[in-house]
Amino acid sequence: MTLTDQQQINSIFQNQKSFFATRKTQSVSFRIEQLKQFRAVFVKHTDAICDALMEDLGKNRKEAEYAEVQLVLDELDYCIANIEEWAQPVEVPSKPRPGGENVVSKLTRQPFGVTYIIGPFNYPVQLTFSPLIGALMTGNTVILKPSENTPTVSKVIASMIAEAFQPEYVAVVQGGIEENTLLLTFPFDYIFFTGSANVGKIIMAAAAKQLIPLTLELGGKSPCIVHRDADLDLAAKRISTGKWANCGQTCVAPDYVYVHEEVKGALISKIKSYLKETYQDQSLGKIGKIVSRKQVENLAGYIAAAPEKLVYGGGYALESRYFEATLMDDVNWEDAVMQQEIFGPILPFLSYSNIDEALNEINGRPKPLALYVFSENQAFADDVLNRTSSGDAEINSTLIHVGSHFLPFGGVGASGFGKYHGKFSFETFSHLRAVLQIKK
Ligand code: NAD
Repeated sequence: MTLTDQQQINSIFQNQKSFFATRKTQSVSFRIEQLKQFRAVFVKHTDAICDALMEDLGKNRKEAEYAEVQLVLDELDYCIANIEEWAQPVEVPSKPRPGGENVVSKLTRQPFGVTYIIGPFNYPVQLTFSPLIGALMTGNTVILKPSENTPTVSKVIASMIAEAFQPEYVAVVQGGIEENTLLLTFPFDYIFFTGSANVGKIIMAAAAKQLIPLTLELGGKSPCIVHRDADLDLAAKRISTGKWANCGQTCVAPDYVYVHEEVKGALISKIKSYLKETYQDQSLGKIGKIVSRKQVENLAGYIAAAPEKLVYGGGYALESRYFEATLMDDVNWEDAVMQQEIFGPILPFLSYSNIDEALNEINGRPKPLALYVFSENQAFADDVLNRTSSGDAEINSTLIHVGSHFLPFGGVGASGFGKYHGKFSFETFSHLRAVLQIKK
């Protein structure tokens, strides 16, 4: 990074501080107007977004429209329709005063100021723009840093933002570690990070130095428990759609399946049939690309460490960053594939005879971002949820909760903290300020 780049980044930050101080963003109608303007620019660039997603990640048009474009539009429309109501102060009861004075107590919401949003590569549009909507609807200014690992998408994001907003209100800084390290020295009023736990630690340490409040949206190994009474056809289909969306590069993808030993064989054979039907043509543009050659090598390493456990797929091509949908059976916790979040199209199977064993193993590890349970017995599913902890959870489905703006989304413990989407974004990106007044 040149000195000029550094000076430019610094001046964006200083200009945003000054712009926030004008209090223009305090106006709810200003926020709505800006979000509507952004919506128009976003719609205009839908083709460019989808083309860039194909270029960087081999994401097919259907998936790009569903999991990136439509989610942003839904979030925009829902938030634009509700900002006015969410921004209203809420009067709450007051404790009586000894002198009997009239006390009024209110909950008010204030923007933090200049916020910093750091995005990951895997859903590079949705995961930078959903937090952006949250930050803007609450009256903040934003510096966005999209991932350097999706350079075509980042360019499209930068040009859309430049078209929709003045840089003293919203600006994009493109770059990687160097730019991020510099930005993390600035006294932001809020940081919103989506990415890996390892980088999350760096972000949190930098924020701690200046006591900057933050949200960490991290990942982890999200388990998928399949009990012996599960509807196996449904489980096979929904596990497959959740696992192989975006080539397994989804933060809430089922990382591994923990299945009752009596139904493991049947489940694996149903998933194989589903894969043959759905991903028969596993060419690029159908299943997507792995983000980097390095990650293709990591994934190949999991298979090379236990080749006898490979029961389906396993093929890959370094140059095109292609990796087949892959199943590994009889996996145990010592296997390389179980040592970290897989973040790719390999699905390992572990089995249990008694659910207590499975839950003990899960509970002995860092808290995952999502936990899925497949069972036709509501009491069993409820019991699994009661005895485990995860950012969020689903019964008899995978991934769907992330797309609902009525539900808060986020992690717990090692999978992060802070929730967003819809009204929860309003809460995350604003400071809840209690105001008490004794009236004469
Ligand atoms: P990453 O942590 O490698 O990168 C995220 C961001 O951090 C990028 O913008 C990158 O430039 C920056 N960065 C990387 N290394 C850095 C360093 N040393 N110092 C400062 N900044 C640095 O994550 P990724 O590979 O883009 O995304 C995959 C990870 O993100 C997975 O762990 C996944 O589970 C997680 N994720 C979480 C969510 C969620 O909503 N919770 C969503 C998507 C991805």
